[in-house]
Amino acid sequence: MNFNLSEEQLMIQQAARDFAQTELLPGVIERDNAQRFPHEQVKKMGELGLLGMMVDPKYGGAGMDSVSYVLALEEIAKVDASAAVVMSVNNSLVCAGLEKFCNEEQKMKYLRPLASGEVIGAFALSEPEAGSDATSQQTTAVDKGDHYILNGTKNWITNGGNATYYIVIAQTDPEKKHKGINAFIVEKGWPGFEIGPKEDKLGIRGSDTHSLLFTDVKVPKENRIGEDGFGFNFAMAVLNG
Ligand SMILES: Cc1cc2nc3c(=O)[nH]c(=O)nc-3n(C[C@H](O)[C@H](O)[C@H](O)COP(=O)(O)OP(=O)(O)OC[C@H]3O[C@@H](n4cnc5c(N)ncnc54)[C@H](O)[C@@H]3O)c2cc1C
Repeated sequence: MNFNLSEEQLMIQQAARDFAQTELLPGVIERDNAQRFPHEQVKKMGELGLLGMMVDPKYGGAGMDSVSYVLALEEIAKVDASAAVVMSVNNSLVCAGLEKFCNEEQKMKYLRPLASGEVIGAFALSEPEAGSDATSQQTTAVDKGDHYILNGTKNWITNGGNATYYIVIAQTDPEKKHKGINAFIVEKGWPGFEIGPKEDKLGIRGSDTHSLLFTDVKVPKENRIGEDGFGFNFAMAVLNG
């Protein structure tokens, strides 16, 4: 078996290394001290294809393999851990799950802008009482026919203040425990969806980590990912990625 990197992988590694040196290194300490999100840098990362690296180009991605993704992520993380966290969440926790499990309409509407880096996304699973034990979801989504009503709080959500689209995990049928959990795509700005306080972290301070507050947020049924009750498996598959 040949473990050497291919020419293409080496090129991607070098391109990410160059980008990190020229675009991320200047000001990285200041951004971290000031907890300043690397807006301009993330925009350029999107233009380079770094925010949807493994996504099929027909959905706005760069169509690369996972080794290329890891090589590029290493180069970004070496210089700016915050930019790397933005990148890894958008690639692994948002785009990968949407590409694997969403229907065509959802992919065209949400995955395309996310994978092309036009906007960034967030993945909201953790709660004050549901960290390691992700089955203890207290956020509820009540089925109202053509929509769900979402209520609850998510904690420590990366890209929480800067994302446009959010994957939100919620309990739809408490009696079914983890089989009664669903995942939804929620848009910033929907009535009742508030971005909570930003965490003042010890490190990776350029990456914003927020709580998210949902009060009677109306989520159209077409924004549910997969079949009813698929949310917990979805979340675990996404985290494996
Ligand atoms: C910077 C940052 C960014 C984050 N970004 C996101 C995000 O984008 N989306 C998201 O959904 N979440 C995010 N999180 C939340 C993260 O996933 C949780 O912090 C994690 O799941 C752990 O949960 P917790 O913090 O509640 O710790 P707890 O679950 O309370 O665990 C505390 C400690 O107890 C240990 N422990 C827990 N249960 C057991 C057990 N049964 N047996 C033995 N030991 C145990 C754990 O290993 C840990 O050491 C982020 C967290 C941080 C710090």
